[in-house]
Amino acid sequence: MSKKNNFLPFAKPSIDRNEVNAVIDVMQSGWITTGKENLIFENNFAKYESSKYAISVNSATAGLHLALEAIGIKSGDKVATSTYTFTATAEAIRYLGAEVIFVDIDEKTFNLDAEQLESKFREFPEIKAIIPVHFAGQICDMDPILDIAKKYDCKIVNDAAHALPSSYRDKRLIELGDISVFSFYATKSITTGEGGMIITKNSDYKDRISIMRSHGINNIAFDRYTSEKPSWYYDVIEAGFKYNLTDIASAIGIEQLKKCNLLHEKRTSIAAEYNKELEDLPLDTPFISSTTTMHSWHLYVISLHLEKIKITRNEFIELMNEKGVGTSVHFIPLHIQPYWRDLYGFSKNDFPKSIKSFERNVSLPIYPDMTKEDISKVTKSVKSILAKYT
Ligand SMILES: *Cc1c(COP(=O)(O)O)cnc(C)c1O
Repeated sequence: MSKKNNFLPFAKPSIDRNEVNAVIDVMQSGWITTGKENLIFENNFAKYESSKYAISVNSATAGLHLALEAIGIKSGDKVATSTYTFTATAEAIRYLGAEVIFVDIDEKTFNLDAEQLESKFREFPEIKAIIPVHFAGQICDMDPILDIAKKYDCKIVNDAAHALPSSYRDKRLIELGDISVFSFYATKSITTGEGGMIITKNSDYKDRISIMRSHGINNIAFDRYTSEKPSWYYDVIEAGFKYNLTDIASAIGIEQLKKCNLLHEKRTSIAAEYNKELEDLPLDTPFISSTTTMHSWHLYVISLHLEKIKITRNEFIELMNEKGVGTSVHFIPLHIQPYWRDLYGFSKNDFPKSIKSFERNVSLPIYPDMTKEDISKVTKSVKSILAKYT
């Protein structure tokens, strides 16, 4: 295992006997790929997020690809998103040959900034879609973003990888755009190992996504093999993709979703404990906007006051590591990543707020299975490092 005993990892999924037993049942059932369990998982998820439709996929990255395809993004189109995100958000735009219009963030929430977004629209009024990334599980300030979408007649696809469960002015994501995509990657609020879910109210999008998820075939294998009138016949109507979620993964998802509220309560209480213990230090604890009515607490990010301390963010991370605490950085802004930098010829200070945030931000461990001792190990480590180097 780890080199050090008692090393506290940055992230860990909450898996118990229920997930293990559910997987065993599927493995022994005679049907392991997309089938009955998958339908149950989709229905339960649709209920949980109050969505009309929920379509599962094998990753959120695949989900973003399908969502952009369904709203009609084509080669040469422009899609706006934040530079302060994981590369998957922007990569999905490139899958369709479209161009990414990067936007800087609001320095407090690390979310897409509506004013800077609007200035991009003044420059490129032809932008076809916006992908708001709801950083750490706090939903972006959506009212002005929805206004921009209306004014410029463009669509909104939410990157909701962090946002289960989250709400903005008491609205869930289904009310805040055209399509939303959640992730069930191993570190996310709930996990299926790898996986994702797309929600929408629009039946045309739902139909298109369902077809493109399964090779562009208009009736899936499960229907063909298990319906009253088994049929060997199918129509291929597009060159689609292979993005379906297995029943093995879906069975894990069903169990994870049952305890989603409980897991969320635990994350919320860890965040409250961190807020309490980390005040009055040379750092900012997460800023909570007045529009945020539910924060998923996928991440807990502290922002070091670098001007008040004698170490860099990287040195802080190294010292936390020496104390046996895993941390991470969200995110390395995309415009300084070699591919994106070279594609658009960016320089570092093109998005100064993202750079400033990147240089001082550290994500602390926040996951439901953390014990009281784990939490205090984190806060004590932060305090002792900052006491020594202030
Ligand atoms: C995790 C993540 C994704 C990708 O999710 P996958 O399910 O791993 O494809 C996309 N966007 C953001 C912001 C993420 O954190």
